[in-house]
Amino acid sequence: MISIAGLGVSGSYLLRRFVGAGYDVRGFEPRRPDFYLPCGYAVNLRSMGNYMKNVGIEIDPFIESESHNVEIASTDTSYHFGSLGLGTVDKNRLIRNLLEGMPVEHAQLHSASGHITVDATGISRSLLGPAREDFTMIAKEYLCNNAEHSDFYFRYFPGGNGYYWEFPLRNRWHIGAGSPNLDIIEEELGKRDHILVTGRRIRLKPLFDGIRNGNVFGIGEAIGAVSPITGEGIMPSIKTAECLFEAVSRYSDLQSVEEAYSRCVRKEIGYFEDLFALLMDARSGNLRKIRNLRAGLIAGRDFREFGIDFRLTKVLSQFI
Ligand SMILES: Cc1cc2nc3c(=O)[nH]c(=O)nc-3n(C[C@H](O)[C@H](O)[C@H](O)COP(=O)(O)OP(=O)(O)OC[C@H]3O[C@@H](n4cnc5c(N)ncnc54)[C@H](O)[C@@H]3O)c2cc1C
Repeated sequence: MISIAGLGVSGSYLLRRFVGAGYDVRGFEPRRPDFYLPCGYAVNLRSMGNYMKNVGIEIDPFIESESHNVEIASTDTSYHFGSLGLGTVDKNRLIRNLLEGMPVEHAQLHSASGHITVDATGISRSLLGPAREDFTMIAKEYLCNNAEHSDFYFRYFPGGNGYYWEFPLRNRWHIGAGSPNLDIIEEELGKRDHILVTGRRIRLKPLFDGIRNGNVFGIGEAIGAVSPITGEGIMPSIKTAECLFEAVSRYSDLQSVEEAYSRCVRKEIGYFEDLFALLMDARSGNLRKIRNLRAGLIAGRDFREFGIDFRLTKVLSQFI
């Protein structure tokens, strides 16, 4: 029996994946189904579409918008890039769809239960417990009827202090800001008309050395599957869920599951550790290190994974 605590995007995907393969599995989630998830809903629609096929879901009906001309700015410069699939999806509806007909208990899971327990509780790490070292930023977001930009827009704050975003939905916008400093966020977002406001802390530190505790395996944001420079967490979380599914499908002893899972996570998103080091160097005003030349190239890859045709890696130091 496998228990999954937390049915955000990674837990819902994994639950459906296990059910589809005939496993005895159960998901736990205390959130109300109509809770508006704090998230920009921006994903690479191409990779999302590929992963959703694994669980029998066609992505097209969930697409809210597709990018054409992505603007990435710093305080004094701005660059435009083509699209490699960046768009938004209706994440609330997608998760409801993923969970349709699934064995779900509307409750928190407080301790490990079953042969394998999955901690997919995101920022809380409810079952894995607090990480020895962690790094989070505050993220606040408005749902708005209009925005200043018509396509996807990112504006990075100086000194690795996060960024402001405008992501188009079908008829509305997600406008938000993430930063360690709430004053920066309030100043950047200002007072604007909005339909609702959401927010929470977001984990930006990869915690790939702590993916297992006893029979508890962490996936998604619980293990820091969030890009330290873009805050992209949807696809990275789904990738870790798929890695765990494949490891459990292949091995029955927990040690082998852990080794296979760890290898897969590192192959998919191990480069987040370099990006985290880059972010920390930016925050301490220490960007001119040799290792950051490599990290700059990796950052280009990261933007492209997100669906942005980012080519000017040399300008990256200005963004963070
Ligand atoms: C404001 C904001 C904007 C963002 N925008 C984007 C974006 O545009 N694109 C992108 O890719 N990423 C974005 N992210 C990051 C992304 O939303 C997350 O990294 C990703 O959704 C994490 O998924 P997850 O399944 O790991 O965790 P979550 O989606 O956080 O799900 C965790 C779930 O666990 C549940 N839970 C907690 N404790 C327990 C327990 N004990 N038992 C059972 N359930 C429990 C919670 O209720 C929650 O539903 C954003 C994040 C924030 C905060």
